[in-house]
Amino acid sequence: MARDAHYDKARHKAWRAKVIRRAGGLCEECKRYGRIGKDGLPIPATTAHHIKHKQEYPELAFDVTNGRALCNSCHNKAHPEKGGFWR
Ligand SMILES: [Zn+2]
Ligand SMILES: [Zn+2]
Repeated sequence: MARDAHYDKARHKAWRAKVIRRAGGLCEECKRYGRIGKDGLPIPATTAHHIKHKQEYPELAFDVTNGRALCNSCHNKAHPEKGGFWR
């Protein structure tokens, strides 16, 4: 692959920030199930997950609509295989 890894990393960072902002800063999965944290507040999103795997859909890797804002624990559940190289 001839792609610049640093450039991709920067793009991914920007993509993740947009996905999280779009979700209002909250974990979409926790919000869906009405989960709240110990402090009584909604669970904040800490990362963005690709709905469609970027390995199979590289053209959607930086598509905001292909992103899901998740907290760490939901994100781990989204990756049973644990192989995400951008976690
Ligand atoms: Zn969550
Ligand atoms: Zn993910």
